[in-house]
Amino acid sequence: MASGGPAVPRYTEAMLLASRIRHCRRCGTAIERRTPPDDNRERAVCPACGEIHYENPLNVVGTVPVWGEQVLLCRRAIEPRHGFWTLPAGFMELGESTAQGAARETDEEAGARIELQGLFTVLNVVRVGQVHLFYRARLLDTDFAPGSETLEARLFHEHEVPWDELAFRTVRQTLEHFFDDRRRGQFGIHCGDIA
Ligand SMILES: [Zn+2]
Repeated sequence: MASGGPAVPRYTEAMLLASRIRHCRRCGTAIERRTPPDDNRERAVCPACGEIHYENPLNVVGTVPVWGEQVLLCRRAIEPRHGFWTLPAGFMELGESTAQGAARETDEEAGARIELQGLFTVLNVVRVGQVHLFYRARLLDTDFAPGSETLEARLFHEHEVPWDELAFRTVRQTLEHFFDDRRRGQFGIHCGDIA
C-alpha cells in the first residue's frame, strides 16, 4: 500500500492463531498470506487458483440454566477440556438465531427443558477468533438427559461450583457475573474481552 495511506494491519500472531485455513478450500493448495490489491489486510490467498478465503470470528452460544438457587453445569465428554465442567454452549449453526442456538445447545448437551431469558454476557475471545454469548434460562424441570458430549449434568449451589475445574474462562466469567448480579438482585448485560 502506498505510504500515507491508512495503516496496514499485518497478520499478527493473534490473527494467525485464530486462523483456521491452511489449504485452499477450492483446490487444496497450501495457502499464502498476502494483501489482495483491493484490500487493506492480509488474507489467506491461494497461489494456484487465486481464491481469497475470508476468515471471521465464530459465535459460541450457550445458557446459564437456573433452578431455584442452583445452576446447571455439564461435565465434558469431549476434547478440548474433557472431564471439565461447562455451561451448555457450542458453535452457532447456519440458519438459527443466537437464542435458538443457545436453546439447542442446552437441549443437546444437557437434555434440559428451559425457558430462555435475557442475553447475559457477550465475551470476545480475540485470541481464538470467537465471540461467546450466554443467555440466562429458567429450567422447567430437573429431568436432565445429557447427550453424548456430556459425561454428567447436575445442579450446583454457588458454594459447590467447581471453580478450579471449569472448562473455559468465558464460563467462569459468566458464572461470576451471574452470582454477583443475583446478590445485587438485578441482572444486567455484561460485555467484555478475554485476554
Ligand atoms: Zn486454490
